[in-house]
Amino acid sequence: MSSSLLVIGTVAFDNLETPFGKADMVVGGAATYAGLSASYFTPYTSIVSVVGEDFPQSFINTFREHKINTEGLQIKKGEKSFFWAGKYHIDMNTRDTLDTQLNVLADFDPVVPENLRSSEYLLLGNLMPKLQLRVLEQMAVRPKLVVMDTMNFWMETALDDLKLVLKQVDVLTINDEEARLLSGEYSLVKAAKKIMNMGPQYLIIKKGENGALLFRDNKVFFAPALPLEDVFDPTGAGDSFAGGFIGYMAATDDISFENMRRAIIYGSAMASFTVEKFGTERLVNIKEDEVATRIQSFVNLMQVDMELN
Ligand code: AMP
Repeated sequence: MSSSLLVIGTVAFDNLETPFGKADMVVGGAATYAGLSASYFTPYTSIVSVVGEDFPQSFINTFREHKINTEGLQIKKGEKSFFWAGKYHIDMNTRDTLDTQLNVLADFDPVVPENLRSSEYLLLGNLMPKLQLRVLEQMAVRPKLVVMDTMNFWMETALDDLKLVLKQVDVLTINDEEARLLSGEYSLVKAAKKIMNMGPQYLIIKKGENGALLFRDNKVFFAPALPLEDVFDPTGAGDSFAGGFIGYMAATDDISFENMRRAIIYGSAMASFTVEKFGTERLVNIKEDEVATRIQSFVNLMQVDMELN
């Protein structure tokens, strides 16, 4: 049976600009992508976050349609939701943040509902590190697995708090640029060693369309990204990856390195869906058999028959 999963992170409005078009005020946010992605694996997914009065009830219904528990989603009267604007470069692997407005997040105090304090799996999705700590403090029992996602913005503005969170998590997921920023090392192998010394026993470095690396001690596993014909909007790929990863871990309730290798493929598959359309458009509409077919494409992509002599 699936284990319970708690996801924290932003629930937001985004303005997105990619080489293929523009979209304003689309619902996004780390907890949105991660929660939706995880919901394909475990029916016991809950989110803790905050939105303003401007947030559409129809999207809260979308969460509920995906069986996501929204008890921990605070709605602040008279306030505005977190807002982010980003523009992608032509290669779609890099982007500029054009605007970040904390709004309702500025004085957010996350409250984990009593019945969710014993959640067995915890995703500290991208959010102020101080708030990630507040959630950790409220857990009644230490979850079996704590995964943390973060980004360069918090490394630049809240590094001390971020290092405190790092000491308490099992897995950190960041991209290659962020791994270099956090460690001060160019080599990702050296960067991984330094970062694992900061706390997490496992490190996942995401490399966009070049796949992802999982580090544990001196072991490393590589999972490719699926070569896709159309990448429309990469926003939320990292969060969908993290949600798929921990959703699969919670569904299988096995925290071994071997199972993490499989979970990375599931995370990559979920990210590959997200990038096919703007915002969450694709992520909210995936059929079960489509997940299985995509996993099979990954397996085919990774297979190699070789004889060593
Ligand atoms: P990703 O593409 O996976 O890195 O995630 C993009 C999502 O992260 C967008 O939907 C944004 O709303 C959200 N986001 C952007 N900046 C931040 C931030 N500083 N903290 C938390 N979430 C953010």
